[in-house]
Amino acid sequence: MQNTESLSLCSHCFSRLSGIKDPSVSNEERVKAAFSIISERGLTHQISLGQSDECSLCHGILERIDELCDALIPQIGQREFETFLVGSSVTSEQEEIEESISEILKTDYEKLKKELNRELGKAFQDKTGKEVSFDDPDITVNFDFSYSSFRIQVKPLYIYGIYRKLKRGIPQTRWIHRSGEDNSVETQIGMVLNNLTSGEEFHLHGSGREDVDVRMLGNGREFVIESVNPRIRRIDLGDLLKTINTSSDSIQVSDLRYSDKREVVRIKNSNHNKSYRAKVASSEPIDSERFRKAALNLTGKDIYQRTPLRVTGSRSDLVRKRQVLSCQPESVSGNEAVLEIKAEAGTYIKELIHGDGGRTQPSLSSLYGEELKVLELDVIWIHRDGE
Ligand SMILES: [Zn+2]
Repeated sequence: MQNTESLSLCSHCFSRLSGIKDPSVSNEERVKAAFSIISERGLTHQISLGQSDECSLCHGILERIDELCDALIPQIGQREFETFLVGSSVTSEQEEIEESISEILKTDYEKLKKELNRELGKAFQDKTGKEVSFDDPDITVNFDFSYSSFRIQVKPLYIYGIYRKLKRGIPQTRWIHRSGEDNSVETQIGMVLNNLTSGEEFHLHGSGREDVDVRMLGNGREFVIESVNPRIRRIDLGDLLKTINTSSDSIQVSDLRYSDKREVVRIKNSNHNKSYRAKVASSEPIDSERFRKAALNLTGKDIYQRTPLRVTGSRSDLVRKRQVLSCQPESVSGNEAVLEIKAEAGTYIKELIHGDGGRTQPSLSSLYGEELKVLELDVIWIHRDGE
């Protein structure tokens, strides 16, 4: 514990001994009130009012708020922001001094960091004209006493949208370490966004994902694209949409709007029924009537799917029960057939068709009585309206 016999506090740190938090009370009045408390309790030999640059607690920083703020502003540089929040971290030595003051006073002593945050925030607001946001600031500034330096954190920029993937062979997200050199949905959207924001990095958060070889048609899939450490926050979303859609022959986006982190959680947690169109093939010519019966037989059926072999590395091996809501044969021609399937969220459609070596029961193959392969698969509708 700090020896408190020689605590000398600046007028700011001293005035906080008064316990007065009303901002309309002047510092002088607070100092006066603090003096009365200190003398009433006979503590004058322990805590005294001293020179600001010799303050045992803040080392004079509260007298240099303006200077501190002037040093901070250039560090923010060209980054665009409308809202901010100031925080600070004090040293363990400063914490100990505050603790001992509280012990001597037998009341809560308002913390230095509280005053510093408040004063620095006020000065910053005056100098920049920006607003404080406790909830969701564009930038967060943290003053660290140990290093006498600022750390600046920029909130990522989040844009919501819906994408359609018109071609096969497009992964939704990048492979690690191959950023910027691929044709993923993430890269095609993220690169255009970061060109507009001068961001450092980007991440696509999709509401589920389709396989690389599956097209995403119909009403498209919801996503939120995140631009990390953006310099520019106000972008022309019409421009973003036009640039993505004209520069890509495989990805189309729509419904772009500003979003936030909460929406990432929302779309990540949403589960919707989906409709698919599948082209399947058999090694023999397909018997149209038998195929029709097998397809119709799947409608309304509970399906038991053990985790597919192709994903067992990344997901726990268990049996999931899912329902096929409808299964409609569309056409049969030679060895091939086309059908539409509407299934509960989370159904593995390829496995529903080929059966995954018996791991999915029943399957279209098992009901048809012959092995069926999936030639092409498209998501044709995501039932976001709950139907
Ligand atoms: Zn002080």
